[in-house]
Amino acid sequence: MTSSPSPSTHPGTTDAPASAALLERAARVIPGAVNSPVRAFRAVGGTPRFIREAKGPWLTDADGRRYVDLLCSWGPMILGHAHPDVLAAVDEAARRGFSFGTPSENEVLLAEEIVDRIEPLEQVRLVSSGTEATMSAVRLARGVTGRSVIVKFAGCYHGHVDALLAAAGSGVATLALPDSAGVPTEMTSDTIVLPYNDIAALEETFAARGPEIAAVITEAAAGNMGVVPPAPGFTDALRRITREHGALLISDEVMTGFRCSRAGWFGLEGEAGYAAGAPDIFTFGKVMGGGFPAAAFGGTAEVMGHLAPQGPVYQAGTLSGNPVATAAGLATLKGCTPELYPRLEATARTIADAASAALSAEGVAHTVQWAGSMFSVFFREAPVTNYDDARDQDTAAYGRFFHAMLDAGVHLPPSAFEAWFVSGAHDDEAVGVILDALPAAAKAAASASAS
Ligand SMILES: *Cc1c(COP(=O)(O)O)cnc(C)c1O
Repeated sequence: MTSSPSPSTHPGTTDAPASAALLERAARVIPGAVNSPVRAFRAVGGTPRFIREAKGPWLTDADGRRYVDLLCSWGPMILGHAHPDVLAAVDEAARRGFSFGTPSENEVLLAEEIVDRIEPLEQVRLVSSGTEATMSAVRLARGVTGRSVIVKFAGCYHGHVDALLAAAGSGVATLALPDSAGVPTEMTSDTIVLPYNDIAALEETFAARGPEIAAVITEAAAGNMGVVPPAPGFTDALRRITREHGALLISDEVMTGFRCSRAGWFGLEGEAGYAAGAPDIFTFGKVMGGGFPAAAFGGTAEVMGHLAPQGPVYQAGTLSGNPVATAAGLATLKGCTPELYPRLEATARTIADAASAALSAEGVAHTVQWAGSMFSVFFREAPVTNYDDARDQDTAAYGRFFHAMLDAGVHLPPSAFEAWFVSGAHDDEAVGVILDALPAAAKAAASASAS
C-alpha cells in the first residue's frame, strides 16, 4: 500500500494532549490503561478520549473538545446524558442513602415496571451487570433442567462469563474453544457454538445431543458483531426446537431490551417471531440501569421459583437492587415512552441514510443493518447474517472513517463490530454535526483502499 498521508490514519497525540497524558498515567496503574478492553481503541488505533463530562447528546473530553455521542455508553444512555428527570431521581435517592443491604421500595418499583412491559415476564431478579444476568440465567437453566450443555451462537456476546466466552469456530457443532486465556477448556466443554441464523445446525445439534442440552442462549437480535437481526423464522425455530427437547430458551436482551421498543426486541418482533411462545428466561442490562449498574434476569414465577431463597439455585449480590441504581433505571424507563421510539428511529434513519449516501458517493462498499433504532454500517457489500460474514469486512476502512469522524467532532464506536446508538437528546444541532462530518469521512474511508 502506498502511503496516502491521511492525517486521520494514525492521529497523533497532538489532537488530544490531555487525553494522551491521562492515557500514559492510566497505563501505569490500570492494565492496558482501561477498565474494559474496547475502550483502548486497539481496533482503530489512536488515542482514546478521556471524557470529563457529558450532557444530552454531547461528550466533552479532557481537552475541552466536544463530540456528538453515537456510543451512548454502549447503549444505556437512551435519554441522553444527565437527563434532568434521571438526575433528579438519582439525587433524591442518594440523599436517602446509598445502599442498605435490605429490601427497599425502589427494587419493587423497577421490577414492576419491567414486568409490566414484557407480557410473559412474571418475576425478575435484579443484579448489577449484564454479565451477572447471563451467568445467573445459565445457572438457573441448568438448575431447572438438571442438564449441563449450553448452546450459543458465534458472534453473540453475553458478557465475560467463562462458559460463554467461546465464540470462535464457525462450522456446524464446532467444539467450543475458549476465547480467553484463564478459561480452562473444561469451562467451555459443555458449551456448543453454532452459526447464528442457522436453523439446520440447531436441528442437527439437538438431534445428536438433545437430552444433554439445558438451554440455548441467543442475543434476541445480535448487536455485538455489529447489528445482525435474526432471519425470518429463526427466533420461532429457537423456541420450537428447544421446547421439543425440553431445553430452555434464554433471550439475552441486555442490549436490545427497552432499546428496540418499549418491550425490547420481544416487543418489536412480536407475534411474527414469538408465535411458538416466549423465551423461558430473559436477561436485561444497559438501558434498564440508565447509566448505573443495574441489570436483571427474569421469567415465569415457576422458572424463577427455582432461585434461592425459594429454590435450590443460589444467586446473590451485596449491591443487587441498589437504591440509587434502581432509581436511575426506573426514571430512565419512565422516559422510554411509546413516543420516544419512533423519534429514535427517525434520528437513526437520518444518520444512516446520510452515511450510506456519503459512502456510496465515494464508492465505498458498505451495508447498513437494523434492529429497531440500533444500526451498524458494515464495510462490505453483501448482507451480514452471521459472524463469518461480519468478519469479512474492511475494518481498516472503518478505522479511517472512525478517525475522520472523531476529528470532525463525532464519537462513533471504536470498532467495526458494534452498533451505533442514538438517544432522545440527539437534536438537529447534533445530527447536523454528524451530517457535515460524513462526506470527508467517506473520502478518508475510500482513500487507502484505492491505493
Ligand atoms: C453488554 C452485553 C452483555 C454484558 O453486559 P455487562 O453489563 O457489560 O456485563 C451481555 N449481553 C449482551 C447482549 C450485551 O450487549
